[in-house]
Amino acid sequence: MPEEDNCIFCRIVTGDIPCHKLYEDDTTLAFMDINPANPGHALVIPKSHWPDVATIPAEAIGRVAATAKTIAEAVIAALAPDGLNLVQANGRGAAQSVPHLHIHVVPRQRDDGLKLNWGLTPGEPGEIAEWAERIRGELNKK
Ligand code: 5GP
Ligand code: ZN
Repeated sequence: MPEEDNCIFCRIVTGDIPCHKLYEDDTTLAFMDINPANPGHALVIPKSHWPDVATIPAEAIGRVAATAKTIAEAVIAALAPDGLNLVQANGRGAAQSVPHLHIHVVPRQRDDGLKLNWGLTPGEPGEIAEWAERIRGELNKK
């Protein structure tokens, strides 16, 4: 069975599973999250199935990001939250529960208690430099 047949978001794209649709174009779809973290929580997905940021082509995630901006502006205008987070999870370690790439559009209130903000703890400069060196090493292979 192709991965897509088993995927909740692919089934939302085909209309197999209903959703509160906000917007669609030729390659992206936006709809309300069924388990809202906050009032107005929406999701933006590519219509094609890619699991995560590593597998989706740059052009395709660019289209998803553009739609997320459209939705974020509408959410801000409609609900006037104190703020708004765009969140995108990859892999179990990042608590991704649906393996079809998506961007969460999450309206925020100042004291909503949502566990998303990690505060500002200064890093160890040597460690930061070492991580940068390793990441640049990968970028230089491209
Ligand atoms: P993740 O945990 O992968 O970052 O986010 C997946 C999101 O998809 C969750 O916030 C979850 O509430 C939402 N979700 C899961 N199943 C459905 C569904 O059938 N319909 C809608 N509208 N949202 C869903
Ligand atoms: Zn899918």
